[in-house]
Amino acid sequence: MIYFDNSATTQVDVRVVDAMIPYLYESYGNPSSKYYKFAIDAKNAIEEARNHVSQLLCCETDEVIFTAGATESNNMLIKGVVEMYGGNKRHLVISKAEHSSVMETAKYLESKEVKVTYLSVDKFGRVNLNEFEECLEAEPTLISIQWGNNELGSLNDIEYMSKKSAERGIFFHTDATQVVGKVPVNLKNTEVRFLSCSAHKFHGPKGIGAAIIRKDSLGIKTKIVPLIHGGGQENEYRSGTHSVHNIVGFGKAAEIAIKEQLEAAAVLSSLEIELRNRLSNAFTDVIKFNSDKDNKIPGIVNVQFKGINNELLIKKISDRFAISTGSACSSSKPSHVLQSIGLSLNEVRSSVRISLSKTNTVEEIESFCNALAGK
Ligand code: PMP
Repeated sequence: MIYFDNSATTQVDVRVVDAMIPYLYESYGNPSSKYYKFAIDAKNAIEEARNHVSQLLCCETDEVIFTAGATESNNMLIKGVVEMYGGNKRHLVISKAEHSSVMETAKYLESKEVKVTYLSVDKFGRVNLNEFEECLEAEPTLISIQWGNNELGSLNDIEYMSKKSAERGIFFHTDATQVVGKVPVNLKNTEVRFLSCSAHKFHGPKGIGAAIIRKDSLGIKTKIVPLIHGGGQENEYRSGTHSVHNIVGFGKAAEIAIKEQLEAAAVLSSLEIELRNRLSNAFTDVIKFNSDKDNKIPGIVNVQFKGINNELLIKKISDRFAISTGSACSSSKPSHVLQSIGLSLNEVRSSVRISLSKTNTVEEIESFCNALAGK
Protein backbone atom coordinates (compact mmCIF):
# COMPACT_ATOMS: atom_id res chain seq x y z
CA MET A 1 0.00 0.00 0.00
CA ILE A 2 1.39 3.38 -1.03
CA TYR A 3 0.00 6.07 1.21
CA PHE A 4 -0.79 9.45 -0.38
CA ASP A 5 -3.40 10.70 2.13
CA ASN A 6 -1.15 12.56 4.53
CA SER A 7 -3.54 15.50 4.93
CA ALA A 8 -5.99 13.05 6.53
CA THR A 9 -3.35 11.70 8.89
CA THR A 10 0.31 10.65 8.94
CA GLN A 11 2.29 7.66 10.09
CA VAL A 12 3.59 8.11 13.65
CA ASP A 13 7.38 8.60 13.63
CA VAL A 14 9.13 5.66 15.33
CA ARG A 15 11.00 8.13 17.58
CA VAL A 16 7.60 9.41 18.73
CA VAL A 17 6.40 5.86 19.48
CA ASP A 18 9.58 5.16 21.48
CA ALA A 19 9.10 8.33 23.53
CA MET A 20 5.47 7.47 24.33
CA ILE A 21 5.79 3.87 25.51
CA PRO A 22 7.29 4.53 29.00
CA TYR A 23 4.30 6.71 29.84
CA LEU A 24 1.88 3.89 29.12
CA TYR A 25 3.73 1.19 31.00
CA GLU A 26 6.22 2.60 33.51
CA SER A 27 5.48 6.21 34.49
CA TYR A 28 1.74 5.70 34.17
CA GLY A 29 0.75 7.92 37.10
CA ASN A 30 -1.90 10.60 36.91
CA PRO A 31 0.05 13.88 36.70
CA SER A 32 -2.56 15.62 38.88
CA SER A 33 -1.81 13.19 41.73
CA LYS A 34 1.33 15.26 42.42
CA TYR A 35 2.91 13.62 45.50
CA TYR A 36 4.76 10.51 44.33
CA LYS A 37 7.36 9.73 41.67
CA PHE A 38 5.04 8.19 39.06
CA ALA A 39 2.87 11.28 39.08
CA ILE A 40 5.77 13.73 39.23
CA ASP A 41 7.49 12.00 36.29
CA ALA A 42 4.29 12.23 34.25
CA LYS A 43 3.84 15.90 35.16
CA ASN A 44 7.45 16.68 34.19
CA ALA A 45 6.99 14.89 30.87
CA ILE A 46 3.93 17.01 30.12
CA GLU A 47 5.82 20.21 30.86
CA GLU A 48 8.72 19.12 28.64
CA ALA A 49 6.27 18.44 25.81
CA ARG A 50 4.60 21.82 26.38
CA ASN A 51 8.02 23.40 26.05
CA HIS A 52 8.63 21.73 22.67
CA VAL A 53 5.20 22.72 21.33
CA SER A 54 5.70 26.33 22.47
CA GLN A 55 9.11 26.40 20.75
CA LEU A 56 7.64 25.07 17.52
CA LEU A 57 5.09 27.90 17.50
CA CYS A 58 7.25 30.62 19.12
CA CYS A 59 4.88 31.32 22.01
CA GLU A 60 5.07 31.04 25.83
CA THR A 61 4.74 27.63 27.49
CA ASP A 62 1.71 28.70 29.54
CA GLU A 63 -0.07 29.68 26.32
CA VAL A 64 -0.21 26.01 25.22
CA ILE A 65 -3.39 24.20 26.31
CA PHE A 66 -3.54 20.49 25.46
CA THR A 67 -6.81 19.23 23.96
CA ALA A 68 -7.94 16.05 22.20
CA GLY A 69 -7.20 17.51 18.76
CA ALA A 70 -7.98 20.39 16.46
CA THR A 71 -11.72 19.69 16.24
CA GLU A 72 -11.92 20.23 19.98
CA SER A 73 -9.58 23.26 19.87
CA ASN A 74 -11.68 24.92 17.15
CA ASN A 75 -14.90 24.29 19.08
CA MET A 76 -13.40 25.39 22.38
CA LEU A 77 -11.82 28.60 21.08
CA ILE A 78 -14.61 29.78 18.81
CA LYS A 79 -17.49 29.03 21.21
CA GLY A 80 -15.48 30.12 24.24
CA VAL A 81 -14.46 33.51 22.79
CA VAL A 82 -17.86 34.34 21.32
CA GLU A 83 -19.57 33.50 24.62
CA MET A 84 -17.02 35.36 26.76
CA TYR A 85 -16.78 38.55 24.71
CA GLY A 86 -19.85 38.69 22.41
CA GLY A 87 -22.25 40.40 24.83
CA ASN A 88 -25.47 41.19 22.99
CA LYS A 89 -23.65 41.76 19.66
CA ARG A 90 -22.17 38.30 19.10
CA HIS A 91 -20.60 38.21 15.65
CA LEU A 92 -18.24 35.65 14.14
CA VAL A 93 -16.41 35.94 10.81
CA ILE A 94 -15.04 32.84 9.05
CA SER A 95 -14.18 31.96 5.43
CA LYS A 96 -16.19 29.72 3.12
CA ALA A 97 -13.28 27.29 2.85
CA GLU A 98 -12.87 26.46 6.56
CA HIS A 99 -12.62 22.90 7.84
CA SER A 100 -15.91 21.33 8.95
CA SER A 101 -14.94 21.73 12.63
CA VAL A 102 -15.01 25.52 12.14
CA MET A 103 -17.88 25.55 9.63
CA GLU A 104 -20.21 23.40 11.74
CA THR A 105 -19.31 25.32 14.91
CA ALA A 106 -20.28 28.52 13.08
CA LYS A 107 -23.57 26.98 11.93
CA TYR A 108 -24.30 25.85 15.49
CA LEU A 109 -23.63 29.36 16.79
CA GLU A 110 -25.83 30.80 14.03
CA SER A 111 -28.65 28.63 15.35
CA LYS A 112 -28.05 30.28 18.74
CA GLU A 113 -28.52 33.73 17.22
CA VAL A 114 -24.87 34.57 16.71
CA LYS A 115 -24.35 36.59 13.51
CA VAL A 116 -21.93 34.77 11.19
CA THR A 117 -20.26 36.37 8.15
CA TYR A 118 -18.76 33.99 5.57
CA LEU A 119 -15.90 35.52 3.55
CA SER A 120 -15.45 34.47 -0.08
CA VAL A 121 -12.23 32.89 -1.27
CA ASP A 122 -10.35 33.10 -4.58
CA LYS A 123 -9.90 30.27 -7.10
CA PHE A 124 -7.27 28.62 -4.87
CA GLY A 125 -9.17 29.06 -1.58
CA ARG A 126 -7.43 32.16 -0.20
CA VAL A 127 -9.54 34.71 1.61
CA ASN A 128 -10.72 37.69 -0.42
CA LEU A 129 -8.88 40.56 1.26
CA ASN A 130 -11.40 43.23 0.17
CA GLU A 131 -14.17 41.37 1.94
CA PHE A 132 -11.85 40.87 4.90
CA GLU A 133 -11.15 44.64 5.17
CA GLU A 134 -14.87 45.37 4.92
CA CYS A 135 -15.76 42.94 7.69
CA LEU A 136 -13.46 44.80 10.09
CA GLU A 137 -15.82 47.80 9.96
CA ALA A 138 -18.50 45.78 11.76
CA GLU A 139 -16.05 45.06 14.64
CA PRO A 140 -16.96 41.36 15.01
CA THR A 141 -16.27 39.48 18.25
CA LEU A 142 -13.91 37.02 16.53
CA ILE A 143 -12.40 36.43 13.09
CA SER A 144 -11.39 32.82 12.42
CA ILE A 145 -9.40 32.11 9.24
CA GLN A 146 -7.48 28.92 8.49
CA TRP A 147 -3.72 29.29 8.02
CA GLY A 148 -3.56 26.62 5.30
CA ASN A 149 -6.32 24.75 3.51
CA ASN A 150 -6.59 20.99 4.04
CA GLU A 151 -7.84 20.21 0.52
CA LEU A 152 -5.87 22.67 -1.60
CA GLY A 153 -2.88 23.51 0.57
CA SER A 154 -3.20 27.27 -0.10
CA LEU A 155 -1.82 29.55 2.60
CA ASN A 156 -3.61 32.66 3.84
CA ASP A 157 -1.71 35.80 4.84
CA ILE A 158 -2.24 35.32 8.56
CA GLU A 159 0.40 37.85 9.57
CA TYR A 160 -1.42 40.61 7.67
CA MET A 161 -4.97 39.63 8.66
CA SER A 162 -4.15 39.15 12.35
CA LYS A 163 -2.38 42.54 12.51
CA LYS A 164 -5.26 44.33 10.78
CA SER A 165 -7.69 42.71 13.22
CA ALA A 166 -5.60 43.64 16.25
CA GLU A 167 -5.38 47.28 15.10
CA ARG A 168 -9.17 47.37 15.49
CA GLY A 169 -9.11 45.45 18.78
CA ILE A 170 -10.73 42.37 17.16
CA PHE A 171 -9.72 38.88 18.31
CA PHE A 172 -8.15 36.67 15.61
CA HIS A 173 -8.16 32.86 15.62
CA THR A 174 -6.46 30.61 13.08
CA ASP A 175 -6.95 26.92 12.41
CA ALA A 176 -3.32 26.04 11.68
CA THR A 177 -3.83 22.26 11.75
CA GLN A 178 -2.43 21.61 8.29
CA VAL A 179 0.44 24.04 8.68
CA VAL A 180 1.99 23.34 12.08
CA GLY A 181 4.96 20.99 11.75
CA LYS A 182 5.15 21.48 7.97
CA VAL A 183 5.60 25.22 7.44
CA PRO A 184 7.44 27.36 10.04
CA VAL A 185 5.00 29.20 12.32
CA ASN A 186 6.28 32.16 14.31
CA LEU A 187 3.46 33.53 16.42
CA LYS A 188 5.67 36.41 17.57
CA ASN A 189 5.45 37.84 14.02
CA THR A 190 1.65 37.83 14.13
CA GLU A 191 -1.20 39.18 16.23
CA VAL A 192 -2.89 35.77 16.34
CA ARG A 193 -4.54 35.50 19.76
CA PHE A 194 -5.86 31.94 19.34
CA LEU A 195 -4.55 28.99 17.30
CA SER A 196 -5.64 25.37 16.84
CA CYS A 197 -3.37 22.48 15.86
CA SER A 198 -3.15 18.69 16.00
CA ALA A 199 -0.28 16.21 16.40
CA HIS A 200 -1.42 13.53 13.96
CA LYS A 201 -0.92 15.78 10.93
CA PHE A 202 2.86 15.80 11.46
CA HIS A 203 3.79 12.27 12.51
CA GLY A 204 2.47 12.50 16.07
CA PRO A 205 -0.34 10.42 17.62
CA LYS A 206 -4.07 10.87 17.00
CA GLY A 207 -6.34 12.32 19.68
CA ILE A 208 -4.01 15.07 20.90
CA GLY A 209 -3.72 18.69 19.89
CA ALA A 210 -3.44 22.14 21.31
CA ALA A 211 -5.40 25.33 21.70
CA ILE A 212 -2.97 28.22 21.88
CA ILE A 213 -4.32 31.14 23.92
CA ARG A 214 -1.93 34.07 23.78
CA LYS A 215 -1.68 36.67 26.54
CA ASP A 216 -2.48 40.32 25.86
CA SER A 217 0.17 43.02 25.34
CA LEU A 218 0.44 43.52 29.12
CA GLY A 219 1.12 39.82 29.62
CA ILE A 220 -2.33 39.16 31.11
CA LYS A 221 -3.94 35.80 30.37
CA THR A 222 -6.83 35.85 27.89
CA LYS A 223 -9.91 34.31 29.44
CA ILE A 224 -12.45 32.25 27.54
CA VAL A 225 -15.49 30.24 28.64
CA PRO A 226 -14.27 26.61 28.84
CA LEU A 227 -15.90 23.99 26.64
CA ILE A 228 -15.27 21.19 29.14
CA HIS A 229 -15.89 21.71 32.86
CA GLY A 230 -14.44 19.50 35.57
CA GLY A 231 -11.25 19.22 37.58
CA GLY A 232 -9.68 22.42 36.24
CA GLN A 233 -6.64 20.89 34.52
CA GLU A 234 -4.74 23.00 31.98
CA ASN A 235 -5.09 26.15 34.08
CA GLU A 236 -8.88 25.82 34.19
CA TYR A 237 -9.04 26.08 30.39
CA ARG A 238 -9.56 22.37 29.69
CA SER A 239 -10.60 19.84 32.32
CA GLY A 240 -9.97 16.11 32.03
CA THR A 241 -7.14 13.77 33.00
CA HIS A 242 -4.13 14.45 30.81
CA SER A 243 -3.46 11.92 28.06
CA VAL A 244 0.19 11.75 29.13
CA HIS A 245 1.52 9.35 26.46
CA ASN A 246 -0.21 11.35 23.71
CA ILE A 247 1.10 14.64 25.06
CA VAL A 248 4.62 13.18 25.18
CA GLY A 249 4.20 11.98 21.58
CA PHE A 250 3.00 15.43 20.50
CA GLY A 251 6.01 17.01 22.22
CA LYS A 252 8.40 14.60 20.49
CA ALA A 253 6.80 15.26 17.08
CA ALA A 254 7.20 19.00 17.74
CA GLU A 255 10.84 18.54 18.78
CA ILE A 256 11.51 16.62 15.54
CA ALA A 257 9.66 19.21 13.43
CA ILE A 258 11.72 22.06 14.90
CA LYS A 259 14.87 20.37 13.62
CA GLU A 260 13.61 18.75 10.44
CA GLN A 261 10.62 20.66 9.04
CA LEU A 262 12.60 22.78 6.55
CA GLU A 263 14.37 19.75 5.13
CA ALA A 264 11.08 17.82 4.96
CA ALA A 265 9.39 20.76 3.21
CA ALA A 266 12.13 20.80 0.56
CA VAL A 267 11.65 17.05 -0.07
CA LEU A 268 7.87 17.52 -0.28
CA SER A 269 8.19 20.43 -2.71
CA SER A 270 10.33 18.43 -5.10
CA LEU A 271 8.03 15.39 -4.86
CA GLU A 272 5.07 17.68 -5.59
CA ILE A 273 6.76 19.07 -8.72
CA GLU A 274 7.52 15.51 -9.85
CA LEU A 275 3.88 14.48 -9.33
CA ARG A 276 2.47 17.53 -11.12
CA ASN A 277 4.81 17.10 -14.08
CA ARG A 278 4.09 13.41 -14.46
CA LEU A 279 0.32 13.96 -14.22
CA SER A 280 0.46 16.86 -16.72
CA ASN A 281 2.49 14.82 -19.20
CA ALA A 282 0.42 11.65 -18.91
CA PHE A 283 -3.07 13.19 -18.88
CA THR A 284 -2.65 16.49 -20.77
CA ASP A 285 -6.20 16.73 -22.12
CA VAL A 286 -8.16 15.39 -19.18
CA ILE A 287 -6.72 17.07 -16.11
CA LYS A 288 -6.99 20.44 -14.46
CA PHE A 289 -5.20 21.30 -11.23
CA ASN A 290 -7.42 22.82 -8.54
CA SER A 291 -4.47 23.60 -6.26
CA ASP A 292 -1.95 26.39 -6.79
CA LYS A 293 1.77 25.80 -7.41
CA ASP A 294 3.14 28.38 -4.98
CA ASN A 295 2.39 29.95 -1.61
CA LYS A 296 1.07 26.68 -0.27
CA ILE A 297 1.73 23.78 2.08
CA PRO A 298 4.13 21.54 0.12
CA GLY A 299 2.90 18.09 -0.86
CA ILE A 300 -0.85 18.69 -1.33
CA VAL A 301 -2.10 18.35 -4.91
CA ASN A 302 -5.77 18.60 -5.82
CA VAL A 303 -6.64 17.64 -9.38
CA GLN A 304 -9.68 17.09 -11.59
CA PHE A 305 -9.88 14.19 -14.03
CA LYS A 306 -12.53 15.46 -16.43
CA GLY A 307 -15.47 13.10 -16.92
CA ILE A 308 -14.19 10.57 -14.37
CA ASN A 309 -15.99 9.91 -11.08
CA ASN A 310 -13.56 10.46 -8.20
CA GLU A 311 -14.94 7.71 -5.95
CA LEU A 312 -14.79 5.12 -8.72
CA LEU A 313 -11.23 6.17 -9.53
CA ILE A 314 -10.14 5.97 -5.88
CA LYS A 315 -11.77 2.57 -5.39
CA LYS A 316 -10.22 1.22 -8.60
CA ILE A 317 -6.69 1.78 -7.30
CA SER A 318 -7.46 1.38 -3.58
CA ASP A 319 -5.77 -2.02 -3.19
CA ARG A 320 -2.40 -0.31 -3.87
CA PHE A 321 -2.82 3.43 -3.32
CA ALA A 322 -4.48 5.57 -0.65
CA ILE A 323 -5.77 8.91 -1.96
CA SER A 324 -8.99 10.79 -1.13
CA THR A 325 -11.80 12.96 -2.46
CA GLY A 326 -10.93 15.63 0.11
CA SER A 327 -11.36 16.07 3.83
CA ALA A 328 -11.80 12.82 5.77
CA CYS A 329 -13.98 14.82 8.19
CA SER A 330 -16.60 15.60 5.51
CA SER A 331 -16.10 12.66 3.16
CA SER A 332 -19.82 11.84 2.93
CA LYS A 333 -20.65 15.17 1.21
CA PRO A 334 -19.31 16.85 -1.94
CA SER A 335 -16.50 19.16 -0.83
CA HIS A 336 -17.73 22.61 0.26
CA VAL A 337 -14.13 23.82 -0.16
CA LEU A 338 -14.06 22.96 -3.87
CA GLN A 339 -17.51 24.51 -4.27
CA SER A 340 -16.25 27.67 -2.54
CA ILE A 341 -13.56 28.09 -5.23
CA GLY A 342 -16.24 27.98 -7.93
CA LEU A 343 -16.21 24.34 -9.05
CA SER A 344 -19.48 22.82 -10.28
CA LEU A 345 -20.78 19.65 -8.61
CA ASN A 346 -19.58 17.65 -11.62
CA GLU A 347 -16.10 19.13 -11.28
CA VAL A 348 -16.09 18.42 -7.52
CA ARG A 349 -17.08 14.82 -8.21
CA SER A 350 -14.15 14.36 -10.54
CA SER A 351 -11.54 15.84 -8.18
CA VAL A 352 -9.09 13.96 -5.97
CA ARG A 353 -6.59 15.04 -3.33
CA ILE A 354 -3.15 13.50 -3.29
CA SER A 355 -1.21 14.46 -0.16
CA LEU A 356 2.39 13.35 0.12
CA SER A 357 4.72 12.63 3.01
CA LYS A 358 8.44 13.26 3.36
CA THR A 359 8.93 9.48 3.24
CA ASN A 360 7.30 9.04 -0.19
CA THR A 361 9.57 8.48 -3.20
CA VAL A 362 9.73 9.32 -6.90
CA GLU A 363 9.31 5.59 -7.66
CA GLU A 364 6.01 5.58 -5.74
CA ILE A 365 4.82 8.58 -7.73
CA GLU A 366 5.81 6.83 -10.93
CA SER A 367 3.87 3.66 -10.10
CA PHE A 368 0.87 5.78 -9.07
CA CYS A 369 0.81 7.59 -12.43
CA ASN A 370 1.20 4.23 -14.22
CA ALA A 371 -1.70 2.77 -12.26
CA LEU A 372 -3.90 5.77 -13.16
CA ALA A 373 -3.00 5.25 -16.79
CA GLY A 374 -4.03 1.60 -16.45
CA LYS A 375 -0.48 0.33 -17.02
N1 PMP B 1 -8.70 21.61 10.84
C1 PMP B 1 -8.12 21.18 9.70
C2 PMP B 1 -7.69 22.20 8.68
C3 PMP B 1 -7.90 19.83 9.50
O1 PMP B 1 -7.34 19.41 8.36
C4 PMP B 1 -8.33 18.90 10.49
C5 PMP B 1 -8.13 17.40 10.30
N2 PMP B 1 -8.76 16.88 9.18
C6 PMP B 1 -8.94 19.40 11.65
C7 PMP B 1 -9.10 20.75 11.78
C8 PMP B 1 -9.40 18.47 12.73
O2 PMP B 1 -8.31 17.93 13.41
P1 PMP B 1 -8.44 16.67 14.38
O3 PMP B 1 -8.39 15.47 13.49
O4 PMP B 1 -7.25 16.78 15.28
O5 PMP B 1 -9.72 16.80 15.12
